[in-house]
Amino acid sequence: MQWEAQLSSSSSPDTPQASSPQNALTVAQPSNQRSLFSRVSPWLVFIAALLSTIGAWKLASINAERLASERFENRVERVRMAIVDRISAYQQLLRAGAALFAGSDEVSSDEWQRFYQTLQVEDNYPGLLGFGYAKRILGPERENSPASASLAPPSLPETVVIVYLEPDSDLNRHVVGLNMFADATRREAMLRAATTGQVSISGKTLLFQDQGNAQPQPGVLIYQPVYSHGNVAPAQRRQAIEGYVFGAFRMHDLMQAMFASKDDIALEIYDGRTLSAQTLLYDGRSKKASTPRFSARTVVHVSGREWTVQVSSGNVFEAGVYRETSGVILVAGLAISILLFALTLTLSRLREHALELARGMTATIKENEQRLREITASLGEGVYVKDLDGTITFVNPEAEKLLGWKAEEVLGTNAHLLYHHHKLDGTEYPIAECPIMHAALSGETYRAEDYFWHKNGAVLPISITSTPIYRNGVLAGAVNVFHDITERKRAEAQVRENQQFRALFDYAREALFLVDASGFIIDVNHVATDSLRCERAQILGRPARDFMASPMWSDGGATLATVIRRAGPEAPVIVEGEHICRDGTRFPVEALFSPIQIGTRELILIAARDITERKRADAERRELLERERRARENAEAAQKSLARSNADLEHFAYAASHDLQEPLRMVTAYNQLLQKRYSGNLDREADQFIEYSISGARRMEQLLQALLSYLRVAAADEVAEPVDANRVLQEALQNLHTVIEESGARIDYAQLPPVRAHAVHVLQLFQNLIGNAIKYRSAETPRIQIGAQQQADDIWIFSIADNGIGVEPRYADHIFGIFKRLHGEQYGGTGIGLAICQKIVERYGGRIWVESGPLGGSVFRFSLPG
Ligand code: ADP
Repeated sequence: MQWEAQLSSSSSPDTPQASSPQNALTVAQPSNQRSLFSRVSPWLVFIAALLSTIGAWKLASINAERLASERFENRVERVRMAIVDRISAYQQLLRAGAALFAGSDEVSSDEWQRFYQTLQVEDNYPGLLGFGYAKRILGPERENSPASASLAPPSLPETVVIVYLEPDSDLNRHVVGLNMFADATRREAMLRAATTGQVSISGKTLLFQDQGNAQPQPGVLIYQPVYSHGNVAPAQRRQAIEGYVFGAFRMHDLMQAMFASKDDIALEIYDGRTLSAQTLLYDGRSKKASTPRFSARTVVHVSGREWTVQVSSGNVFEAGVYRETSGVILVAGLAISILLFALTLTLSRLREHALELARGMTATIKENEQRLREITASLGEGVYVKDLDGTITFVNPEAEKLLGWKAEEVLGTNAHLLYHHHKLDGTEYPIAECPIMHAALSGETYRAEDYFWHKNGAVLPISITSTPIYRNGVLAGAVNVFHDITERKRAEAQVRENQQFRALFDYAREALFLVDASGFIIDVNHVATDSLRCERAQILGRPARDFMASPMWSDGGATLATVIRRAGPEAPVIVEGEHICRDGTRFPVEALFSPIQIGTRELILIAARDITERKRADAERRELLERERRARENAEAAQKSLARSNADLEHFAYAASHDLQEPLRMVTAYNQLLQKRYSGNLDREADQFIEYSISGARRMEQLLQALLSYLRVAAADEVAEPVDANRVLQEALQNLHTVIEESGARIDYAQLPPVRAHAVHVLQLFQNLIGNAIKYRSAETPRIQIGAQQQADDIWIFSIADNGIGVEPRYADHIFGIFKRLHGEQYGGTGIGLAICQKIVERYGGRIWVESGPLGGSVFRFSLPG
């Protein structure tokens, strides 16, 4: 847990700064500089945003102004075009009127009126106050004209009198007959029309219809010359002029008709280029209008004259312009600036906080890292930690040493690309094929032998264990622990080279392990893999202690070293241990640790034998022994109790026998008295009865005597002492000399050993057995051989062989019982002699038995301590 906790803190995803030294440097900036920056940055952002807003606003304003200006220019042009178009329309109308006159000699008033109505002049040409025809009259005709007298200056040679004028209104009717030529403005226009042949417009004038009007409007007339015949040469035009088709306009009405609804602009129209009240033809400005934002002036060429048109922007136009203005930008910009300020301020505070946290964590991480380095430094194994994409986040000093890369060079680098980049055949090793990488991603513990590349390009054979690490329950990377197996690989190669050893190794019937001095397994045979139920690859490179529980590992390899030092197969160590199978089951083994030299390497060969059966047999044997011991104890207890009851019985028997002697003697004495006193006085049968009683009583006495001597053996408590058997034998022979002589028996005896017993007992043994050998003789002269053989250090077997009648084997045990006899009256005896012999021998822990003898009779053997 400790381990994982440290790893977690060293590469927490919340603190990416900690995962690489570069990031760590970022965190380690001077704090006062950073906090100053943090404090100032929101204001900088605010000012920048404000300036940007103002700039944008200004730009937008300028842009809006430019657009408005363009729109206004466009509007002015459209005004100009409208005026030109409208005048052009009137020109067409006048030309149509002139064509009417050109096409007929005389145009009647009705025709003119029809023409006017046909063209629907009032509807199609608004603003036209009068549309008429004026006839030129030269000299005398002028006299005939009643109306002209008052108008035409007498100096002029001609008049131009209005003949027709439509619409037929009261105003127009009053004007018919007036001489227009008398007015200089009209005359100028007419003359220009006459000489150019073109429609000509007059300067500013007061229309006849408005003379006497309280509020007269400026007016203009427009003339189309009508010649007496077609195709008049320019030079003849003045003379050929017949009259004029003309139109009269009130400027205000005309312009109102054209621009009345257009209040986005205001117009002023001046006749000519001079702008003055005298030349002002039309003033469309509102009295209340403020100073316009836009104004422009344009000159319109209208039928031979120039009108100066002054156009000013109206409220509607300006409102249209300012609707899109940058006010919105300014407000939005200000709002955004404030928001940005607030946001930067918050972010800056957050950043300060985050930096503070990061600083604290960096210190903790550094401390943890240092501790981890210290812990892993003593491991003796290379350790590096990587995250899920293989980036190294920790490396211990041993890994630095083994692979040549310093911590600062590897942190933040991909482990596979750094350590594992090529295969042994020199081809590139794609990350996707790397099993170490794959194991880390799948969260499995992975154990294998592989190769890493040293910084200097050398290959380093390694044994690696990759263990997944989890952070908050989520797979976060792996801890890879590896060690150098160069030596072992070399030893393996040497083992492979040694074919002879290999054959023995592979075909041995015991499980064999070849281990190095540190106890790591270099090789195993099939029996070992089968008995451990493991694959070979799962065993190689692992410590032997993982597969065999044994006292050999308990002292940190000291015993192993001892085995190796005591070179030679005569110095193996045999220990009992347990095999640990892959599934955790165990079974007892006896393992022989022998030093062995393979190539130049001093190794240890472990031969392990399954001793489950032996252990079971041992256990059974122990149990049997235990049972036997218990049985023996029981038997001994029973024997003791039996001995006790025997002793009691013997005691009783002895007492009874002893006490019976007296009454028996009385019976015998009285029987003898009866015999002496009444023998011959009674009948023969009575004498015989008395005889039987006396012999029965004697027999009983004998038996009691025998029984008493038997019981005395048991009751005697003499201490065993060294006895010279030769001397005792001589004493026995002496005691038996009568029967020996009578029977002529030949007795041979060898030198006998001394025995530890009581002399009386030994004498009884010899005397009974030699006596029997003589008593139970056959027809032949008795021959007796006495000898002794040593059976063990302190046990002697004595033998007394005869050539007598022998004992059938089926009675061999029977004859040692009390009062047990095979032969009756013929031999005499009580049947107690052999019982006494057995009692004596057993008293000294020996035994007595009978066999068929070498002399044809029987041989009695007994053992006594020497
Ligand atoms: P006893 O001789 O008084 O009958 P023992 O106890 O000495 O009693 O002998 C028991 C029996 O063993 C004898 O009756 C006899 O039948 C048999 N026996 C003993 N010694 C011999 C021997 N040497 N040869 C043959 N039989 C013998």
